[in-house]
Amino acid sequence: MQVLVVGAGVIGLAVARAAALRGHDVTVAEATGGIANGVSSRNSEVIHGGLYYPTGSLRARHSTRGRRMLYEFCASHGVAHRQCGKLVVATDPGELAKVETIMAQGQANGVEGLEIIGGNAARAMEAELACTAALWSPTSGIIDSHAYMLALWGELQDRGGMIAFETTVEAIAAEAAQWQVRFSGRDAGTLAFDAVVNAAGLGAQNLARRIEGYPAEKIPRLVLAKGNYFGFAGRPAFSRLIYPTPVDGGLGVHVTVDMAGRMRFGPDVEWISAESYTVDARRADSFYDRIRTYWPGLPAGSLVPDYCGIRPKLTGPGEPAADFMIAAERDHGLPRLVNLFGIESPGLTASLSLAEEVVGCLAG
Ligand SMILES: Cc1cc2nc3c(=O)[nH]c(=O)nc-3n(C[C@H](O)[C@H](O)[C@H](O)COP(=O)(O)OP(=O)(O)OC[C@H]3O[C@@H](n4cnc5c(N)ncnc54)[C@H](O)[C@@H]3O)c2cc1C
Repeated sequence: MQVLVVGAGVIGLAVARAAALRGHDVTVAEATGGIANGVSSRNSEVIHGGLYYPTGSLRARHSTRGRRMLYEFCASHGVAHRQCGKLVVATDPGELAKVETIMAQGQANGVEGLEIIGGNAARAMEAELACTAALWSPTSGIIDSHAYMLALWGELQDRGGMIAFETTVEAIAAEAAQWQVRFSGRDAGTLAFDAVVNAAGLGAQNLARRIEGYPAEKIPRLVLAKGNYFGFAGRPAFSRLIYPTPVDGGLGVHVTVDMAGRMRFGPDVEWISAESYTVDARRADSFYDRIRTYWPGLPAGSLVPDYCGIRPKLTGPGEPAADFMIAAERDHGLPRLVNLFGIESPGLTASLSLAEEVVGCLAG
């Protein structure tokens, strides 16, 4: 099939690669001038174990399976990564119950090697940590996500696929068993494809509205939840991922380390109504308070505003978290068309597994 994938973020690239590996003729249309200019360049670069998500959900299934596939991919394609492990910390007895619930959920999801350890055992791993107990997740890790996306792009090219940059999909209409797709930008014009995958991230709902005949009631609302990060201007205190217990809308202000060993904190949850990428330095106050519950040694004045990312959520504050939405023919009635909505965390971890499911939907 001639397959069009809209969006060259991690999801679009993984889907395009998977389609090309199945022998399809693949084109990716990307509105900006490069890969990974959207949500995919603004995240924590964590390979998640798969702890938090309801068993049987797409997020649970694709994060555990996707994580295993991702480690294999990194090893075979020379993508820098480190399986550093993660501690989810309880700082008082009330939080221990929460940590135990997360462990039970993780075990039900098939996450390997989980154990609850005491405060002293946690401090033997990370000397500056203050906690009464912690959940140790040895399969969590970090990845150079840009190198990963370059590797996906490379494989796509090896299989004859290509990316049209600065090319925006404006409208899609069915005609004679094909999809007629109208583009603006560098490759403006109309072309026919057998199948279309909408992996437009924050633009997915907008694009779905431009698909002729697509049922409007099947397009979920888009809720924007910004996640701000603060960098740490000092010598890194931790070498593993340190997470507090989750908060409404996110996993809590955690410690991430990057492949260079640098340490940063975030993301928090800031509900917003329009896209904006400035980090308000005043948010640092709440970061200091939260971080000092598990790292009392955080020096004053050491946090500097860094970057932020926007989660494409499907539910708002106080509502239960939504699952990933893979809307295929069985859901909307239109053949060889898949819309991906709400691909927030753990989309990076889940990408390879999710991509296989999406490409499977095109055949049906
Ligand atoms: C703060 C934050 C932290 C996160 N941390 C993690 C983490 O540690 N681990 C993890 O596994 N996941 C994490 N995630 C989730 C992960 O980053 C996302 O799930 C993933 O990046 C989504 O990728 P995407 O390809 O769907 O979207 P994007 O990367 O946004 O790609 C979509 C692309 O589509 C293009 N586009 C839009 N409309 C059109 C159009 N009409 N025509 C052509 N192109 C178009 C855009 O320009 C964009 O490049 C995090 C997310 C956030 C926000």
